[in-house]
Amino acid sequence: MRKLPRFRECARCEQTGLIEARGLCRSCYQPLYREGTLEDWLREHEARRIGRLDDVAELLERGLNQLEIAKRLEVTPRTINRAVRTLREEGRIPWTPRALERAGLTAA
Ligand SMILES: [Zn+2]
Repeated sequence: MRKLPRFRECARCEQTGLIEARGLCRSCYQPLYREGTLEDWLREHEARRIGRLDDVAELLERGLNQLEIAKRLEVTPRTINRAVRTLREEGRIPWTPRALERAGLTAA
């Protein structure tokens, strides 16, 4: 499994900070853990994430750019940017030469 840095973006509040566990910062993780709703939240989050990825992939196919997709799905452009990167990493959409360059990779 890929080791993730401890200091990164929280999956829930999207603030960059120290990750407590399960991709969540302390102030997101602890109340969920205490209430016993952590597993439910993670399942819902995963479902939302997959749903959003599918929507992003579809809108990209229709020719919308990332800003237009962000507006359409009512999320931040940064969220769409991350979704696009995930879709590329999963091989669901092709890498463009520019995207490869920005990711620090070279075109094959
Ligand atoms: Zn958080």
